[in-house]
Amino acid sequence: MNLPTQLSSVPGSEELHVWAPEGTGLWGYANCLWIISGDDAALIDTPYDGPMTETMIAAARPRLGDRVVRTVVNTHANGDHSFGNHLFPDAEIIATEAGHLHQHHEPTPTDMHTLVHASPPDSAMGWYMRRHFGSFDFTSARVTEPTLTFSGEYAFEVGRQTVQLYEVGPAHHHGDLIARIGDVVCTGDIFFHGDHPPHWAGPLQNIIDACELALSFDPRIVIPGHGRPTDRAGLAANVEYLRAVQHEICVRYEAELSVEDVMDDLMERRFYPQFGMPERLMIVVGLEYAHLRGAPEPPRMLDLSVRAASWSFAQHGAEPFAPTAP
Ligand SMILES: [Zn+2]
Repeated sequence: MNLPTQLSSVPGSEELHVWAPEGTGLWGYANCLWIISGDDAALIDTPYDGPMTETMIAAARPRLGDRVVRTVVNTHANGDHSFGNHLFPDAEIIATEAGHLHQHHEPTPTDMHTLVHASPPDSAMGWYMRRHFGSFDFTSARVTEPTLTFSGEYAFEVGRQTVQLYEVGPAHHHGDLIARIGDVVCTGDIFFHGDHPPHWAGPLQNIIDACELALSFDPRIVIPGHGRPTDRAGLAANVEYLRAVQHEICVRYEAELSVEDVMDDLMERRFYPQFGMPERLMIVVGLEYAHLRGAPEPPRMLDLSVRAASWSFAQHGAEPFAPTAP
């Protein structure tokens, strides 16, 4: 994976810059938004491990100068948006209270390292974790808890810019937030651009509602959690996709199909064939099924992941395993 060595300026916004790892078909390469204004700097989300975060800081240095990052916002508690927090030691770290409360249910860097390196390589999970997470250095990642939490809405200034945060979870995850800076919206993982997304909290209606809230701001630029930055139309297309997913799942739930049968049926019908990572759609099917059944809590992340990895292994397991270069 070639990580960006420079920040890209958000068109029409001289003080906003995105560090956007390219590519679809990937886990863990999230977008980070820099706000550099006056003598101040803030960052929305941090990368998954130490080397990625160091690369991003080096990429930001020419624009950052000697400013200190005083604020880091985590859109949610997943490690690919927060495991680099510790490399901003002077920053206030802002998250929602719900996201913070959920943090202790998240896999830690040690858990991730163990899953990648200690799962039997010929098991579905061992195969999947090595294939998709083997390039990250989880020994350099840290859980750094927020120092400021909020519920509902919160705003702060960065030089001349005002950053408005809106709690929209539970949606992709517990305690998601989206950020609005003028006509730019940073959605976190309620929006993956170009692939099937995984969602962990739901139900899907909450994710749709969160996207609708972002659309109501009439954004000119939309920075998704993963995938290429886009505009209002790109986010609107995501809502259309989510509504289609919601409908297709509901119909098959009523027909009493198993989660695996839903997947086989959707693949046969070529549901959004342009999107990669169909096993993540399976995570969403499993999650939505739990909500349709009236389960009091979403299924455990690990249970959803094992099922998706097993399905993916069955689809691709015959491929020889090629380790990803670190
Ligand atoms: Zn993410």
